[in-house]
Amino acid sequence: MKDVIIGLEVHVQLNKLNSKLFCGCSTKYHDSGPNTHTCPVCLGLPGALPVLNRTAVEAAIKVALALNCEIAEQTLFYRKNYYYPDLPKGFQISQYDYPIAINGNLVIEGDSERNIRIRRVHMEEDPARLVHKGPIEKSKYSLIDYNRSGMSLLEVVTEPDLRSPKEARQFLNKLRNILEYLDVFDGYLEGAIRVDANISLAGGARAEVKNISSYKGVEKALSFEIVRQKNLMRRGIKVVQETRHYDEARGVTISLRTKEEEKDYRYFPEPDLVPFKAKDGVPKIKETLPELPDAKRRRFVEQYNISEHHAKVLTSELKLANFFENVAGKVDTNQAATWIADVLKGELNYRGLGIDAFSPEHAIQILRMLEKKDITEKGAVQVIRTLLDEGGTPAEIVKQKGLIKVGTDVIARAVEEAIKENPTAVQDYHAGRNEALHFLVGQVMKKTSGKADPDAVNKLLREKL
Ligand code: ZN
Ligand code: MN
Repeated sequence: MKDVIIGLEVHVQLNKLNSKLFCGCSTKYHDSGPNTHTCPVCLGLPGALPVLNRTAVEAAIKVALALNCEIAEQTLFYRKNYYYPDLPKGFQISQYDYPIAINGNLVIEGDSERNIRIRRVHMEEDPARLVHKGPIEKSKYSLIDYNRSGMSLLEVVTEPDLRSPKEARQFLNKLRNILEYLDVFDGYLEGAIRVDANISLAGGARAEVKNISSYKGVEKALSFEIVRQKNLMRRGIKVVQETRHYDEARGVTISLRTKEEEKDYRYFPEPDLVPFKAKDGVPKIKETLPELPDAKRRRFVEQYNISEHHAKVLTSELKLANFFENVAGKVDTNQAATWIADVLKGELNYRGLGIDAFSPEHAIQILRMLEKKDITEKGAVQVIRTLLDEGGTPAEIVKQKGLIKVGTDVIARAVEEAIKENPTAVQDYHAGRNEALHFLVGQVMKKTSGKADPDAVNKLLREKL
């Protein structure tokens, strides 16, 4: 899809900070009733004055450094003027000409590594949340919750370097990953991320799809747009530059309005906040930067001698990476990588659970039983599934379900029986038909209720045949 051009404007909420961007209101409102975390500043009452949250600035610099940006010598806030009920002041305090950071990049790994340039990172306040009763176009009234008003947002703007909806998703996943490593962002909270996506096909005007609020939504909305724009072009109709809304439920984008121009916002410097030197804080903040995903991935490959693929999966979430390191110190590292990245992660994804749902202690116990060949791989999978679905401990489950691997004497007896009971299969085997061996292995596994080691069964069968 080389003729597809996509740029993203990603709003991320720094929802792990303690207080909002310009007031002392707590950011931990997600479990509280509406309009309980407000004050004159974030309600936009006349005469209320904003005070800049130093921690929010530090967090913004952290993110910008992690995205390889240049931090501004001097930066300041502007008023972006527009009226909407979720913005009671009639303007949003945002940044304009002198954003806190510019010229960064982020590398995504798809089929090949791709460098996505970041044009700018700027700080702004979040508006309140509108709750429409029913579908937006039929809604009789809307409710406003000001708990979100004044939350710290970072707007990360890419250059139009993305070439497919899939790359857009990879970019967002990587960005989320970095933000979580920096401990400034919880991607699971409502409103954590909102994306405006610009998309055009070669030779056409660009459409901006506004306010997509889920990671999957971005990929779907962009895929829809490609089809829509291609169809228009095929029929000789001009694609117009406009703002579109993504209807998550129906999976379509709808025309909202032709795009406002920058001049419509009448940007001017916010007179209640002074310009400040962002760069001064950089050396100290640099020291607090944790190991980031790319560095951790490289270290995992080197230190634990695991595959690039496993390292990538394991570092895709900080919690998962920590879980692995916790376990890897106590059992064979390659086995730990395989079981955590492939098996456990798969079982968790299937159930929509995070790694928090599994204890590293249990993982160690299971892997040790495997190492000692007390249970089969099949048995280990069963233990993991049972732990996730019903709870318990690995030892209990192994006992209850009779998963302790059977000894060689039992296998030998089952092999003999299987040979005796299936003369045709034995003949077929000698005639060179390999399926016959698979069949016999299956018979032995059946007789041992799946508790025999398949390798041992195979070996013994070949010997006896
Ligand atoms: Zn407030
Ligand atoms: Mn914005």
